Amino acid sequence: MKLQRTLLQFSILGMLLNPLGSIFAENIAQKQLQSGHELQFDSPEHFDLGAYALLSLPSSQGGVDKIYGNKLIVKSLQTSYGQMNLSFADIFWLGGDIIGEPKQIIGSSLTPAITFQNNLAAFDKYKDYIPAVFTVYSNVINDVQKFVDTGSTLVVPDKYNYEYNKATGGWGGAAGSLLKSGLYLKLAQYNYDHFGENAVKSYVAGHTLALEYASKATNAEELKYAYFVEGYADHFLTDLFATGHSRTPRVEIVNYCANLGQGPASFLTKLMHDQDGTTGLTLVNGKGETWFGTGDENFYTPANKDNKLRALSVVQQSVDQVYNAYVSKNANVDLNITEMKKVMPDIEATANLAQNTAMFPPMYKIVKGTDGSLIINQYDAKTKSYNQLRCLSSATAAAWNYAFN
Ligand SMILES: [Zn+2]
Repeated sequence: MKLQRTLLQFSILGMLLNPLGSIFAENIAQKQLQSGHELQFDSPEHFDLGAYALLSLPSSQGGVDKIYGNKLIVKSLQTSYGQMNLSFADIFWLGGDIIGEPKQIIGSSLTPAITFQNNLAAFDKYKDYIPAVFTVYSNVINDVQKFVDTGSTLVVPDKYNYEYNKATGGWGGAAGSLLKSGLYLKLAQYNYDHFGENAVKSYVAGHTLALEYASKATNAEELKYAYFVEGYADHFLTDLFATGHSRTPRVEIVNYCANLGQGPASFLTKLMHDQDGTTGLTLVNGKGETWFGTGDENFYTPANKDNKLRALSVVQQSVDQVYNAYVSKNANVDLNITEMKKVMPDIEATANLAQNTAMFPPMYKIVKGTDGSLIINQYDAKTKSYNQLRCLSSATAAAWNYAFN
């Protein structure tokens, strides 16, 4: 903790010094990601949501086998360190967070299907990272199991972020991670697709592809490929159930902070992500049903129980659609997406729900000023109320608060 604060104060100083600002700003982004809240805790939740899905496959006897997501191998890779067999649940947690193409943003792409495919191709391109990633992951699981068992907020040591960074081609340790980003930290810096409408678009792009592959599949092996695609898509689907991802204006904050690099934007994102994830929000789906949920680190807490069950059933519905496309030889994309939108969180409805805005005002809301410029309205749940602050002063004030309060 002490080291983190020292690094942060160092980074704040850096942000204030021009022209070195952007270099230190990059560091603050890395620091905040290494400090643990953006990504590292996501892995076990994503894995579990994928593991509980029951995937249907045609059996050799002519019936249907139902196989849990952690048992069904959907991708085999020949790496320099031997063969890696990845289950549907593995694709779920690796996809986008650890294996992907950092600057291939699906949510803003004019050709989302192609951009989604470019991200999928990262599994082949970066396959040699995967064995080391699994070594880190097995240690993470050992450490988090006690929190999972007791249903408490997850606390995972910072060292795992450094280890994931090292496993994916960067340098290890706190200082090393600041100096050389691996694929893990690069993905974290461009994780726009894991938030809000970008996550919706990313899921829709991937699920559409999975339905199309399944409708054309003629055997179990080809259907497994459709499940591989679906696993990656479902990562984004389940991000929508983590309330820190619901209304945090990830992309808008980046645009707002455009001249300052990724650092301050990532930092502001983290603060709102953590606040909404911890206090939770009432989520609304396309049918207007509401339920309470919390965010990443609180996935296993009793308060998040309904939300977890919802997420599991929505994932199940999504993979069942893939199997039905295989059986019927019809992707039925429009109908299937319409059905999914009825049950998955509706970003706009959730953000606008009166009980959310009244009880848990958004920390940041980006709006257009009368002159067309972007304005950030910050509401601090405790004492501060900054309005129409510029990005740098927002980030500096927030970082100062974070470091010293
Ligand atoms: Zn994610």
